[in-house]
Amino acid sequence: MRLFSSAVLLLLFSVLQLVFCAEDYYKILGLKRDAGDREIKSAYRQLSKKYHPDKNPNDPTAKDKFVEVSEAYEALSDAKTRKIYDQYGHDGLKQHQQGGGGGQRHDPFDIFSRFFGGSGHFGQAAERRGPNVELKVQIPLRDFYVGRTVEFQWDKQEICEHCDGTGAEDKVVDTCQKCNGRGVVIQKHQLAPGMFQQVQMHCDRCGGRGKSIKHVCPVCSGQRVARQPTTVSVTIQRGTAKDARVVYENEADASPDYVAGDLLVTLGEKEPGDPADNPDHVDGVNFRRRGDDLFWREVISLREAWMGDWTRNLTHMDGHVVSLKRARGEVVQPGHVETVAGEGMPVYDEDGDSVYHKTQYGNLYVEYTVVLPDEMESGMEKEFWALWEKWRGKIGVDLHKDSGRPDGRVVVQKHDEL
Ligand SMILES: [Zn+2]
Ligand SMILES: [Zn+2]
Repeated sequence: MRLFSSAVLLLLFSVLQLVFCAEDYYKILGLKRDAGDREIKSAYRQLSKKYHPDKNPNDPTAKDKFVEVSEAYEALSDAKTRKIYDQYGHDGLKQHQQGGGGGQRHDPFDIFSRFFGGSGHFGQAAERRGPNVELKVQIPLRDFYVGRTVEFQWDKQEICEHCDGTGAEDKVVDTCQKCNGRGVVIQKHQLAPGMFQQVQMHCDRCGGRGKSIKHVCPVCSGQRVARQPTTVSVTIQRGTAKDARVVYENEADASPDYVAGDLLVTLGEKEPGDPADNPDHVDGVNFRRRGDDLFWREVISLREAWMGDWTRNLTHMDGHVVSLKRARGEVVQPGHVETVAGEGMPVYDEDGDSVYHKTQYGNLYVEYTVVLPDEMESGMEKEFWALWEKWRGKIGVDLHKDSGRPDGRVVVQKHDEL
């Protein structure tokens, strides 16, 4: 009985292993089959860091995943091997690699180090870390309200792909003959007969690196790195604070000499006014934000302020309409601030709008500005004047009289100086 069950287990195990081995490369990287180079890189960037064994010391399965991700990336990042894989699958690719088709496998840590710099490991005492890079991107208010993924580019220093960061066209790097790899040479200066001064100098042949290259890489001119426009994608959750900072670990400038530092992206708020940010002509893009609240100034005429009977439809940033209105006879004082509850910014929450969480909103504050006509048509002026005269006598208030202030000059009595 026990024998039987272990046989079944073994069978099950080998089936599992078979399935495991044949895991689709696109699936491993979480990509569709028509994914572009950028998506492949982005998937590798995220997953290789996630499963790097140095970051998962207590998870033995992480290394397998790390190796899988590297394999998948290596196969799909090269146009030639990707084509073979698409047509003939894993077996086809294996044949191609065994047949010396140039596609030999690399150590997953090498692939990792070509991407992020350094030795392919994190947190080693001897490992140097590159500087962090800070960038600020300007995001329209609307994107903070609606939530969106935006892309931007910056000139990132990458390890030269042509020479794999060796600086040599043939990737052959020799020890410098002049300094024997030490990077420094000792020079003797004669100060006086029999008296020498020893000076340690930077080796001029290898530039202090201790290595020499016969065929300099034409792409990076032996620099081993090159700057190129790199696209970064950033997801702005609804209600993200202005000037919030997003950290991209190890995505600053890469170099074979160090592990890349962090890319720190600050999400600034772009000034409104760019028509490209408002293709639908909504009012909301001109709202002003303070924390979770929004502010708006609405202009109404004297007649509207005084007599009421008006409606204004404000289009919010997602296009929904906020109606401001007054019935006939409802007066609005100039400078009055109306609170429209729940029409402010979404309050940021990491769960977003989901079954676990319903998005809360701040308030919209509408301040009314009343404009008076500069001139009145004379017929209208006469009618108004007559109307005023008629009603002033009956119920009108004379603010001048009521204030108790004098009509003429007041004689100020002199006081003795103290
Ligand atoms: Zn040298
Ligand atoms: Zn190069």
